[in-house]
Amino acid sequence: MKEIHTPNLIVGGGPVGLVLGIELATRGVPCLLVNEGKTTPAHPQGNTQNARSMEHYRRLGIAERIRNSGLPRDHTLDITYVTRVIGYELARIRMPSTEENLRENAPDRILTPEPLHRVSQMMVEAILKAHIDTLPAADVRFGWR
Ligand SMILES: Cc1cc2nc3c(=O)[nH]c(=O)nc-3n(C[C@H](O)[C@H](O)[C@H](O)COP(=O)(O)OP(=O)(O)OC[C@H]3O[C@@H](n4cnc5c(N)ncnc54)[C@H](O)[C@@H]3O)c2cc1C
Repeated sequence: MKEIHTPNLIVGGGPVGLVLGIELATRGVPCLLVNEGKTTPAHPQGNTQNARSMEHYRRLGIAERIRNSGLPRDHTLDITYVTRVIGYELARIRMPSTEENLRENAPDRILTPEPLHRVSQMMVEAILKAHIDTLPAADVRFGWR
């Protein structure tokens, strides 16, 4: 069996492993990332990237790509409680759209340049994977345990 030597082995290529690999490889630190699945997931899981995550993506240069995926900027982020999808609406929590959140005088913009963003985790993971694949210091092996 061929032995592989690496200063940094990352086991798991979910959001945590992918971002860790990007952090290291962006600084030219070699790492080997293995992930059991052959591809990033095709099921949604998380649906929101909070401001702190978006700030990390900004620093890593991928915030805009993530911001451009997921719900369209002018789409409402309201949360509704309904009897069925085509039934009666019982209650609604009003939430500003991404477009409104990004306006310079929006309450969240006073605290951060990158307010939270609604996007399915599976889309974020695909962007993270595409980005780490461009970084020469990262040896990314999906389909490996
Ligand atoms: C239905 C659902 C809804 C959710 N909603 C939200 C939400 O709205 N907001 C939110 O913040 N979070 C949400 N979460 C939680 C979020 O999905 C997890 O916190 C996040 O995926 C954890 O990331 P991770 O990288 O630590 O682990 P994971 O995403 O679990 O990734 C770990 C990876 O490592 C791989 N792996 C494991 N062992 C090995 C091994 N020995 N060798 C190689 N690969 C291995 C796994 O196959 C997997 O791909 C939700 C989760 C679920 C299931």
